[in-house]
Amino acid sequence: MALIVQKFGGTSVGNSDRLKHVAKRVAQTKLDGHDVVVTVSAMGKTTNGLVSLMAEISNNPSPRELDMLLSTGEQVSVALLAQALQELGVPALSLTGWQAGIMTEPVHGNAPILRIDATRVRELLDQGFVVVLAGFQGVSESGAITTLGRGGSDTTAVAYAAALKADFCDIYTDVDGVYTADPRVVPEARMHDEISYDEMLELASLGAKVLHPRSVEYAKHVNLFLRVRSSFNLGTGTVIKGVDQLEKRNPVSGVAADLNQAKLAILSVPDQPGTAALLFSALAEAHIDVDMIIQSVQGESTNDIAFTVAESDLMRAKSVVYDIAQKIGASGVISDADIAKVSIVGAGMINHPGTAATMFSALAEAGINIQMISTSEIKVSCVIERSRAQDAAQAIHRAFALDQEIVPTFA
Ligand code: ASP
Ligand code: MG
Repeated sequence: MALIVQKFGGTSVGNSDRLKHVAKRVAQTKLDGHDVVVTVSAMGKTTNGLVSLMAEISNNPSPRELDMLLSTGEQVSVALLAQALQELGVPALSLTGWQAGIMTEPVHGNAPILRIDATRVRELLDQGFVVVLAGFQGVSESGAITTLGRGGSDTTAVAYAAALKADFCDIYTDVDGVYTADPRVVPEARMHDEISYDEMLELASLGAKVLHPRSVEYAKHVNLFLRVRSSFNLGTGTVIKGVDQLEKRNPVSGVAADLNQAKLAILSVPDQPGTAALLFSALAEAHIDVDMIIQSVQGESTNDIAFTVAESDLMRAKSVVYDIAQKIGASGVISDADIAKVSIVGAGMINHPGTAATMFSALAEAGINIQMISTSEIKVSCVIERSRAQDAAQAIHRAFALDQEIVPTFA
């Protein structure tokens, strides 16, 4: 008998029929003799609907009231799922985040979990209940309802699994698992049987919307056996685990294309200590996340600095950068939203020095110009023209033979 945490996403509980289907799956796990905590998201697009509703009242709502509102979506789905389980003769009980002891920092909209008091949940499990736990929500020390960030039900599931020392955590979703690329972009994309926490973390933050990045961080921290699988079929999905536990190591495990990026460049910046600090502090103060940064080496008294931000932040970033440009006497600012960031991710690439070159060659052969490059131990990203993003992803996928089970060794 195992202790299992399951999570079903919004699409999986999108209507009452789907909810009943989920109830059957949960009931089966219970029937197999396991203890089950099941976390659910709000039904379908409920959370988006609530966001729009608030927008009808205010374009600058209080974060506290917004969290109060958004947390209701999950309360609807837990009540319905608990009832659906009871209809199947399975003892089940729904709990909100605060009833389940999920304490967060006092940050609205994206609250990190501080600690979990699982006493009540443990008691209920001991009494034979399936606990149906509202995802995406917690409570601060001062008693305010908080939410964990969009997509945060994954994090509820993983954090709770860690708190309970669950045997594993299954994230049921509307895709079969984690792929080598988005199958809509690269039709030959293949599902991974397993992938490392770090690769998943990179892929999640590169916009592969399979898992909430923070959930992967928590899983990594406690070495939790985490699995992504479909709620619509019986496939075993993708296991996410430590690198050292992976059976084989391909230099590259995935290609991602992010079309929500924009590029800014500040030209002929005086080459002296403090300019980059000034620029990026101002952006940080405006809560603008900067991704890739490049400073050109000119060997004279000035440099160009280029960087990328989320396209939705471009307007705000521009106004910050124009201000700074004037202050420091830069010669100009250019911006370009017509870009995409394509990246390869792979825990094995650190041992394969030819990996970046293979990626660049694939782009070159496809006639795609590289505007910016950044690398880390497990990632190489290139900024290219947006209209070529799909070609780029396909060419790179092909170059690394990611559609094949056994990946040949590269340089
Ligand atoms: N319902 C929340 C959202 O849409 C949380 C989740 O789905 O995980 O972001
Ligand atoms: Mg969701």
